[in-house]
Amino acid sequence: MHRDRHESYKWSTMKTSSTLRPRSNITRLLAYIYPYWPSFLAATLCGLIKLLTPVGIAWVVGKAINVLTAAHAGTLTTGEAWAQLHHLLLLGLGVALFAPIPVYLRSALAARAVQEVIRNLRCDLYAHIQKLPHAFFDANRSGSLTSRIISDTEAIQPFVGKAFVQVWMSVGLITVVLIYFFSQSPLLGTIAIFILPLQMLVQRLIGWKVKENAKKIRSQVANLFGSTQEKLAASTIVKTFTGEDDEVQRFAEDSGALVALGVSNSRLNGMSEGSMNFIRSLSQLLVIGIGGYLALFHAPAISIGLLIQFVLMQSQLYTPFEWLNEMQLIIADAQGATERIFTIFDTAPEIADKPNAVKAPHFTGEIYFDHVTFTYPGAMQPVISDLDLHVPARTTLALVGPSGSGKTTITHLVNRFYEWETGHILIDGRDVRDYTIYSLRHQIGLVPQEAILFSGTIEENILYGRPGASFADVEEAAKRAYAHEFIELMDDGYQSMLGERGIKLSGGQKQRISIARAFLKNPAIIILDEATSALDSESERIVQQALEDLMANRTTLVIAHRLSTIRHADNIAVIDGGRLVEYGPHETLLQQDGLYSSLCRQQFGEPQAMISPGDA
Ligand code: ADP
Ligand code: MG
Repeated sequence: MHRDRHESYKWSTMKTSSTLRPRSNITRLLAYIYPYWPSFLAATLCGLIKLLTPVGIAWVVGKAINVLTAAHAGTLTTGEAWAQLHHLLLLGLGVALFAPIPVYLRSALAARAVQEVIRNLRCDLYAHIQKLPHAFFDANRSGSLTSRIISDTEAIQPFVGKAFVQVWMSVGLITVVLIYFFSQSPLLGTIAIFILPLQMLVQRLIGWKVKENAKKIRSQVANLFGSTQEKLAASTIVKTFTGEDDEVQRFAEDSGALVALGVSNSRLNGMSEGSMNFIRSLSQLLVIGIGGYLALFHAPAISIGLLIQFVLMQSQLYTPFEWLNEMQLIIADAQGATERIFTIFDTAPEIADKPNAVKAPHFTGEIYFDHVTFTYPGAMQPVISDLDLHVPARTTLALVGPSGSGKTTITHLVNRFYEWETGHILIDGRDVRDYTIYSLRHQIGLVPQEAILFSGTIEENILYGRPGASFADVEEAAKRAYAHEFIELMDDGYQSMLGERGIKLSGGQKQRISIARAFLKNPAIIILDEATSALDSESERIVQQALEDLMANRTTLVIAHRLSTIRHADNIAVIDGGRLVEYGPHETLLQQDGLYSSLCRQQFGEPQAMISPGDA
């Protein structure tokens, strides 16, 4: 939807960031900034001109005052003085007229460069997160991930803008003014700048505290963001457990902490501003006082005009010094954010393709688990132990077993969401690790318990199964998923919007859209993970019909809580504690009188009732 916005985005920058790992994070950030150096340089030069404008005016004012005092003292005639004043004013006017151009250019150039650097970083981060393994998402709340993508990259913005434009403008200005000061009067120059370190000291003492607070505020906000998002997304749970009041209470406490931090920050800012004003006034008085004393008693070369120039120019130095002084804090700040960002970059992307991985051929869909053992990252016990299982092509295997026995995990492994330790999973006789991940997953369809639909139109949601498919194909897929009828009844049909502000669908309708997506993808292998468990029996009947059509002529792994839906499966694998405990068709397993038949008895009473036809 926002494709055009990213059009100019350079994907090549991604490679530089991940291949150069050992460098410091700030250096890695530089790799993003470097391509924009001409913009940063031009912005800096324009910025320097901007800063020099008031200095030029100060020079003109000082000169003009000297012309006037000379006329008063009689060393210049009024005619000469007026002519000189005239020239000086024209010069000043020229400077004033020209000044807005670099001011404008600096803002425009710097803003574009900074925004693009941040955009590139953010897009790379998002692209990298998309490639991260399942285990990463298991461990990271999506709220805090969102905040990392958006606000941490945002936090780097001041650093980029300041370190690469403002600092160099400041250095340029300070150099020019100091050269002028010392060429005119080294003594007065020394007085004019000696107070500036004092300013830096005050700023540093209070500034650190302010930044510390700001950091606390940010992390508090991120926390609030994460937990609020989680709670609002799970409003059903909050409501059923009548936890609303507790939630409001907790939210109020977290928000209260923000008030204290915010107030303390403003107090510190006030203190800092007050002391800074005092120091500045003091330093101007010092220049006039000591300079005046020198001019009266010791150094007749110091003119009134020069004194005025010093006072005016000196006041132009405060801001650049402040900027320089701030840099350390801004760098420290950016370091935190860059560290968090590059930690994500350093998280190895998902299980990579083997160097000699091949594009999977069109699968017939025979799956073979050959003594597979798998432990979740960080877990102690294997969740799948020595699984040995054969699924002939175009047959249905039902996975049955107590909750937590490892059924979903088995289907995750077929998709290669995780790396298992020992054994092989073969599809069409070849280890799935020999195929490229893309070509493997391209041929596996998944219908999970909760249909995941995105904000967007119904058509876009179905198209997710095969981007670029024609509308006729979308419609065909929807028909086969028994979704076409209810979509047609909507005012906007396939263009109806789903999502936060869009129409609301029932669980069964969502599931049928999810199935239409799978039809459109047309994979050789289908995984149904409790696809009807969340539905009422009326929706279940129609979704079940759609699923059976979807399963036809494909290899299917089906996990179903309700055993009535799987007894026609070609084979049933009973999993308990990550092990295969029984295997065979429904009737055979019933006769074995093991775990399966006891599960059946729990659901249906006497197992005999299960065999009689037509009790769906
Ligand atoms: P089932 O689908 O049969 O109910 P699962 O395959 O979802 O079972 O889970 C099997 C076991 O693995 C459970 O004990 C569960 O706690 C554990 N498990 C599931 N997902 C993860 C994960 N992402 N990280 C660690 N352990 C997990
Ligand atoms: Mg499961």
